Amino acid sequence: MDLKWPLVKGTLLLRAGEDGEEKKALQAAAEILQAGGRVAFPTETVYGLGANALDPEAVRGIFRAKRRPADNPLIVHLAALEQAGELAQNIPPAAVRLAKHFWPGPLTLILPKRGAVPGIVTAGLPSVAVRVPAHSLALKLLRTAGLPLAAPSANLSGHPSPTTAEHVLEDLAGSIEAVLDGGPCPIGVESTVLSFMFSPPALLRPGGVTLEMLEEVLGAKIQSPDLGNFKTDYTATPPAPGMKYRHYAPRAPLFLVEGAGPAQGRRLLALCTSLTARGLKIGLVVFAESQGIFPAPVLKVLSSRRDPATAAARLYGVLREMDAAGVDAIVVEGFEAAGLGGAVMNRLRKAAVQVIGAE
Ligand code: AMP
Ligand code: MG
Repeated sequence: MDLKWPLVKGTLLLRAGEDGEEKKALQAAAEILQAGGRVAFPTETVYGLGANALDPEAVRGIFRAKRRPADNPLIVHLAALEQAGELAQNIPPAAVRLAKHFWPGPLTLILPKRGAVPGIVTAGLPSVAVRVPAHSLALKLLRTAGLPLAAPSANLSGHPSPTTAEHVLEDLAGSIEAVLDGGPCPIGVESTVLSFMFSPPALLRPGGVTLEMLEEVLGAKIQSPDLGNFKTDYTATPPAPGMKYRHYAPRAPLFLVEGAGPAQGRRLLALCTSLTARGLKIGLVVFAESQGIFPAPVLKVLSSRRDPATAAARLYGVLREMDAAGVDAIVVEGFEAAGLGGAVMNRLRKAAVQVIGAE
């Protein structure tokens, strides 16, 4: 092992930013993965915590480090579409069409699994989640290691997902072998999850690839629990087991104020006033257009209301900054925006202890 890498509580920080460093960092990361260890790495969505998907012991290490419930399956990351056939079988032509169109990219496909995939990866389900990430370091790591990598987000279960190597270390230093530092993740929210275990296919988690984009390439309708057109009673048997857990949550309770215009502004103001009157130190997260709405002791601007991509990229970092500032409650101004805006709102609703003013 190259000793020039810094150790943070026993976790190697593999910096890949400077000239000549990248190759060595990738080699070190690949060797750890081949030996059954865990390496967190950047993707275009969030940092993933990777291990050899075909080695049940290595995958067990992911669940241990994250303290993730064993019934929540993992996404397997691949270097190329051609690899999907080694993990999945009876892949429908429509799934291949989507993969050809959106991979590498933030779309996870759930497909019938092959016997080669250990049960621990899929939490015993007959399906496996696969995707080819679009981050150059992730792709290089997958190619150098020569392995499919099971990689959920590299955070402690239930915490906001990590979008920088520092976030990963906050949660996992000392419990994983290494983190490959490739700077901040460009998208900032997790991949879209689409399941082909349902007909029509079911959107289980919104992300960078939107419902409209999927339907356009498919030339057919998709069902989604969020749209209320999902045929199965998914509250009894959640199609994505992860859906039943509270997610993405900072330490301080988060209140989400939905709606638009003056009505939303009034609700936001009333909530901030009443929490402050109770002696709570509030952290307020607003769009640039509402910066002056309340003199909160900690105020963070997410982005302009018209810029959901920046809101997505900054979301998890801002929630972590609120916890670092020691606030007692976080109040977030919601928005309805196209594209990534839907994914941002989905994460905020799951993180919230209370949603106010939903129509
Ligand atoms: P994470 O990797 O932490 O972003 O979470 C992965 C998401 O994909 C979770 O919501 C899982 O429940 C879901 N998932 C992974 N594999 C499957 C599968 N075989 N069937 C349904 N959902 C899955
Ligand atoms: Mg996660």
